[in-house]
Amino acid sequence: MPTCSVCHKTNQFLRIEAFGVCSDCYPEHGPVIRDAVAGIVQEAEYRVGVKRTDLQLDSVARSIAHCEALRRYGVLPGVDVDPGILAGELEAARTAIIEDVIRAQWFAARERVKDLRGGGDKLNAYTSAIERIQALMAHVDDVGLIEKAVMVMRAERDKLAFDQLFDRAELAEAKGQRAKARDLYIEAAFSLAKDVTPDEFQQDLRAKVEAKINQLGGRP
Ligand SMILES: [Zn+2]
Repeated sequence: MPTCSVCHKTNQFLRIEAFGVCSDCYPEHGPVIRDAVAGIVQEAEYRVGVKRTDLQLDSVARSIAHCEALRRYGVLPGVDVDPGILAGELEAARTAIIEDVIRAQWFAARERVKDLRGGGDKLNAYTSAIERIQALMAHVDDVGLIEKAVMVMRAERDKLAFDQLFDRAELAEAKGQRAKARDLYIEAAFSLAKDVTPDEFQQDLRAKVEAKINQLGGRP
């Protein structure tokens, strides 16, 4: 017996249009279903040819919105996928895209730090990697994963900035340049205070540098 997939009316004279929708329901629901199904197919095809991560993420978001539009109908005749399951898969794909970018940018920053010689250049390698990851925030609903990665990378950059000053200070101290060494240790202590990493994570570094400053006569 013909049954409508929207109103669930069932009788032998029911006229069924596409997607198992009866002719009464079709004017309102048919185009919604048709557009969402076509959208899902189009977006999947589009993503095959697109390399840019932001465009990929935007396309995944549009696909998820199409799935949401279909969700109330469940699995329809003529549509192969369960929109709820597909939405879940797309969410997982979105997370994988973001994780890939984070991993690649982080790895690239660490490699560049190894290769570069200038202290400022090393810090810039981190800064630009952080900026590239942050740029994806506008293209996702949940920024938690990105925020966490940015925090960790900033902490690495802050540690690097501290180490650079501390190393210069130690070098000056080894050369017997006590005043210069003390100034650099003071600068290193200041970098801990003004950076974005919470101070409670830097207590070891702070203790290390304060001991040096005191050893060299304290702050002027
Ligand atoms: Zn109906």
